[in-house]
Amino acid sequence: MIILTNNEGKSGIGTTARLLREGRAALDAIEAGVRLVEDDETVRTVGRGGWPNLLGEVELDGSVMDGSTLRTGAVGGLKGFRHPVSVARQVMERLPHELLIGDGAARFAAEIGEERGELLADHSRKAYQRWFDGEVSPADRANWPDVPLTPYCQNAVDPEIGKDTTVFLALDAAGHIATGTSTSGWGWKYPGRLGDSPIIGAGAYADTRYGACACTGAGEMTIRAGTARAVVLYMKMGMSVERAVKEAVDDMRALKGGLISRVTIHAIDARGTHYVAAVNGLPTNHYWVWLPGMPEPESRPCEIIQISEDRPQDKPTAMKVYTDV
Ligand code: ASP
Repeated sequence: MIILTNNEGKSGIGTTARLLREGRAALDAIEAGVRLVEDDETVRTVGRGGWPNLLGEVELDGSVMDGSTLRTGAVGGLKGFRHPVSVARQVMERLPHELLIGDGAARFAAEIGEERGELLADHSRKAYQRWFDGEVSPADRANWPDVPLTPYCQNAVDPEIGKDTTVFLALDAAGHIATGTSTSGWGWKYPGRLGDSPIIGAGAYADTRYGACACTGAGEMTIRAGTARAVVLYMKMGMSVERAVKEAVDDMRALKGGLISRVTIHAIDARGTHYVAAVNGLPTNHYWVWLPGMPEPESRPCEIIQISEDRPQDKPTAMKVYTDV
């Protein structure tokens, strides 16, 4: 057994570990843990308390994947519901589809009785107002929101503060592997922007035969590189979990132009070995792991791999910070 989550998953990993110890299925244990993170307002990038988009609305993305059936469920741009991970789970359980977005996702959530909630917490509302007052021109304020948003998209929030996600990967006592993700995506994103968290194969992938991978950070990069699926495929081809992640990092070196920023790649194999690399990360980047025999989950540093050094033009630019963290 193993449970791996990123730093944002701290408030949920204890419950997930307890459920795994009690013999519960990986997917159930993951869903329970992610729900706690979604309800934790101090996590500024997931569920209630997450950052809003350029219009001040919180749009949530999330997914689950059952590595034993290769069934998935995902939602993108979901507004007004507290637990995107559970809506995603029900997409998997009840529909012949794998991904719902926007109004359709909200309609489905209402239809199955999912809990509604105000997602914009006070601290996010204030941060958004500071951004609006500081950046939006008087002419655009007069016509807001019927103005071009593209110029504002370039000057949003510091990418290291304004984005993150929670990802959970687990191997249960019966040998089943699953993943779960949940995020508000980037703060001040263009409305309708999906990151990698609901994109199976980019932000998450699980296959009980080989292992699982889930990513946080710049979803734009993992979508382009197909990172999560690539890592699992590299394990299928015989690479160790660490080698597979490093191979996927090499794939990222081929990305030209577009956004190049931080991506953290979390991976486990079918034996419960794990490896976490923070691409363009900081020494402060940590993850959480629980293994049998550990009384409590442990926080450990990610291995840092820089892929920007040889291409200084791709280094993330410093942007103004409108958050109060
Ligand atoms: N991967 C998420 C996204 O692209 C955000 C993050 O983890 O930083 O929406």
